[in-house]
Order: sequence, then structure tokens, then C-alpha cells
Amino acid sequence: MNPQEVLKQVSQEVSGCTKCVLQYSRKLAVPGEGPANAEIMFIGEGPGFHENEQGRPFIGAAGKYLDDLLASINMKRSEVFITNVVKCRPPGNRDPLPEELTTCSDYLERQVQAINPRVIVTLGRYSMAHYLPNAKISSVHGQATKVKGRLVIAMYHPAAALHQQSLKSTIEQDFSRLPELIAQKGQSAESQEESQEQPAEKQNPKQLSLF
Ligand code: URA
Ligand code: SF4
Repeated sequence: MNPQEVLKQVSQEVSGCTKCVLQYSRKLAVPGEGPANAEIMFIGEGPGFHENEQGRPFIGAAGKYLDDLLASINMKRSEVFITNVVKCRPPGNRDPLPEELTTCSDYLERQVQAINPRVIVTLGRYSMAHYLPNAKISSVHGQATKVKGRLVIAMYHPAAALHQQSLKSTIEQDFSRLPELIAQKGQSAESQEESQEQPAEKQNPKQLSLF
């Protein structure tokens, strides 16, 4: 199967998935969307009210803000792949439970394998925890860490930033540095990757807090 076919297959499985209890609260599952050859993937938490109604990721207030953030760095939503760690809306927008995250992560893994993005931007705590299990968002936001050959950049969740002015300036600043981080190739990128590789892979909170 080529990447596009894998994405289609995952999308079909997600739409009819009965692997966790979130199947009962969803109206439409939200597999994610974007080109199969996207260089960047944005991974949020889970669908909210509007996403659940329409089966598309980040289309409510947080999604509009994400569009603005992308526009601020001359990026279009159609160029990037956008998805979530859980594909179905938790009831009342509660936090996803550990078993829901674990069960659903297989779909995310297959999407990541198929797209093979150079950069993954996590939005919020739950997608960050998927890649940087012991990291604290307040210390790692906006920084690039190499995880399994990809740059992972943790950002605050746009919904949180919308409601808190201090986070809003932080996420805007972090976004403004994205093009620079994404452009990093060759020697300079490698040396930075090397210096940040260990903490993420060893999952050592003490080392993580150092950068
Ligand atoms: N918040 C998320 O984390 N994901 C969405 O798709 C929408 C809002
Ligand atoms: Fe399946 Fe994920 Fe939806 Fe649970 S959240 S029912 S694992 S697609």
C-alpha cells in the first residue's frame, strides 16, 4: 500500500472503530486530514463538539486560531497533516483516559509511518506525552527534540492559549520560530538533535528539565 492508501485504510477503520468506549460518545470519528506527503504533522488532543459533528479536526474556535497561527508563518492548513491522539470525542470534552490513549495510538502510529513527516508539532499535554513522556510543557514548549529520527516540537494547546493571554503570546512566539526549526538541516540541525536526543529517548525527567 502506498502512503495515501494507508491513510485511507486507517481513516476507514477509525470511522467504524469499536476498540474503546469513546465509540459510544462520538457522532463522527475524526481520523485527521492533510496530504500524505506532508512534511509537518500537527497532533492535538481529541475532537471537540464541532469536530465530532463534522468528522474533521480543528474546525472550532481552537481550529480557527490554529489557522491564524499557520497563516502567521505563511503556512496553509492544506499543506500540513492535522490529527489527534484520540480520534473520537470524549464525553463533555473530558480528558482522554490512559486506556483510550493506548488503544487509539495504533492509528496515530500508522498515520505517522505512512506520512513519515520530518517534523511533528504536538498541541497540548496529551500528544506531547506520547512523544516526550516525562516532559513538562512549561519547560519544553517551542523546542525541537529528536525522537526516532523526527523533530518533535511541543506547543501549548491553541484552546488553552485562546483563553490565557500569557500562553497566547508564548504560542505565537513558538510558532514564529517554527520555520527556522523546520529549515534546520545538515550540520547545525544534527548537532542540536544530538544534544537533545538523549533526554527524550532515555525519558529521564532530570535531564529533560535541563533544557
Ligand atoms: N482540540 C483538539 O485537540 N483537537 C481538535 O481536533 C479540536 C480541538
Ligand atoms: Fe477507536 Fe480511537 Fe475512537 Fe477509541 S477513540 S473508538 S480507539 S478510534
